[in-house]
Amino acid sequence: MSVNIEAYHSIKEELQTKNVQLVAVSKTKPNEDIQALYALGQRSFGENYVQELVDKAASLPADIHWHFIGHLQSNKVKYIAPFVYLIHGVDSEKLLAEINKQAIKQNKMIACLLQVHIATEETKFGFDAASLHEFMASGRLSNYSNVVVKGLMGMASFTEDKALVEKEFSTLKTIYDQTATQLNNVHFDTLSMGMSGDYALAIEKGSNLVRIGSLLFGARN
Ligand SMILES: *Cc1c(COP(=O)(O)O)cnc(C)c1O
Repeated sequence: MSVNIEAYHSIKEELQTKNVQLVAVSKTKPNEDIQALYALGQRSFGENYVQELVDKAASLPADIHWHFIGHLQSNKVKYIAPFVYLIHGVDSEKLLAEINKQAIKQNKMIACLLQVHIATEETKFGFDAASLHEFMASGRLSNYSNVVVKGLMGMASFTEDKALVEKEFSTLKTIYDQTATQLNNVHFDTLSMGMSGDYALAIEKGSNLVRIGSLLFGARN
């Protein structure tokens, strides 16, 4: 086990003073590592792979809030719909429609964040600013009775270029503020941005939820 308890306590303390939520990203890590942070009071964990999340959720305490933070394929929504707490990476209306369909089947509401494409890299998924604006302005969101759009999520470019990352986070914060105004909905209150390498900068730029893995659990293979 390589859980860094000291790092957990110091990050927790830092985030608490700033009113920022912590999602501990446990992908690829064993259940014992999750149990170790759970024992310290951590309840929010993030996973990227549907099968891994389903397996972990079945064998770990029921009061864990499971955040799905990876790229979600429409045909897999049904596996996590019964228990997922928040789906971060909703990157298309098609996926939102499928989440709504599965939520109706489960007779529940499912909370989502819309993913916005802010990185210069080609590979990152998400709405671009214009398509998000168009979607919000269209009123089509009200067709999806059983999803709650709680906010936005984004990932900055994977780069040493701090100025670029800062610019991307600022862009997302601006889009977040515009969307909040456009939606004018009390449930819209979450901006998920920042990981181990850039969370301090993300918070400076307005993030209120960070997704931290390697600083807590050690590097992944
Ligand atoms: C893996 C992952 C993280 C955590 O990354 P670290 O650099 O280990 O903190 C955060 N967000 C997403 C979407 C991820 O896939």
